[in-house]
Amino acid sequence: MPLDQYNREIDYLRISLTDNCNLRCVYCMPINGLKFLPPEHLLTPAEIAAVARAAVSVGFRKFRFTGGEPTLRQDLIDIVSRISAIDGVGDLAMTTNGILLPELARPLAAAGLRRVNIHLDSLHPERLSRIMRWGRVEQIWKGIEAAESAGLTPIKLNAVIAAGYNDHDVVELAALTIQRDWHFRFVEMMPFGNGECSTVARDQYISNLEIRQRIEQRLGPLSPLPGDPSDESQNFRLPGARGVVGFISPVSEPYCDHCNRMRLTADGKFHLCLLNDDEMDIKRQLREHGPDAVREILRKAVHFKPVGHRLSEGHFTRNRSMFQIGG
Ligand code: SAM
Ligand code: SF4
Repeated sequence: MPLDQYNREIDYLRISLTDNCNLRCVYCMPINGLKFLPPEHLLTPAEIAAVARAAVSVGFRKFRFTGGEPTLRQDLIDIVSRISAIDGVGDLAMTTNGILLPELARPLAAAGLRRVNIHLDSLHPERLSRIMRWGRVEQIWKGIEAAESAGLTPIKLNAVIAAGYNDHDVVELAALTIQRDWHFRFVEMMPFGNGECSTVARDQYISNLEIRQRIEQRLGPLSPLPGDPSDESQNFRLPGARGVVGFISPVSEPYCDHCNRMRLTADGKFHLCLLNDDEMDIKRQLREHGPDAVREILRKAVHFKPVGHRLSEGHFTRNRSMFQIGG
């Protein structure tokens, strides 16, 4: 198992497949002024597989595809098949807005994907299209149903709550777990970059403590569930519920001490910590020196992983936004 200089076990690689997206969530992507990576800058399926093999050889076991919107990659099924075929890949999951899952859920499951996390910020059509802009509740809902019937379970749903956008929805979203064995997780909003999204993230921030209080006032006490320390979500159950309500609180309760992850950007950089700018280029090394070079860089990337974020001092990732790192 790869250990960093602070003795954390880093065994989870989040692979961003693209910086493009079919939505423009207000806290993630601006509508105007975006320039996406040209195709030749993206890692190819063979290159992604080479990085994953190198990661397994140094002890990584968990892999997740993200983006941008990973389902926009035309070669997604090829990529998933290549990674799932690698001996030593334990968990293989994907984070998605779910819109393309009605067509993709079955082929993805057949290619070896185990499960998906689907992003759903509201059940209210107008509020959803205000926060996720081009998103529609019924599209995402069909994606959730497709994932469930393809066996991409347990279904985990994620919402980012922004005051004045969807904070009225938290009770209804948490209540989804009463009848269904789904996990519903509330992710605290974080600032990235210098543009309008980071302004929304700072001005409309609402803590998970407040969200939790609102849920408990209406739906009763949340009982804590035992958890794995490297799981960023603190998990609870509502009275009589089948599913799980989770809180991911990087801002109010940082979990950097237990962080087990490394990120690979779509343009082939190891991004060492979500909320810091430190990166190491592997695409050039891979293209010029082959897969052995990746293993060495990955070992260094693990070693030099920052101790944690410094959001409370106003320090966060300036060079990239969430969609360019892979959330
Ligand atoms: N497009 C996919 C999706 O939305 O699930 C995958 C990529 S998206 C960047 C991954 C996750 O990051 C989503 O759950 C999204 O809500 C979350 N996210 C995006 N911007 C964020 C921000 N500023 N703070 C906290 N979470 C954010
Ligand atoms: Fe796209 Fe996901 Fe960012 Fe929303 S959060 S804009 S769906 S990448």
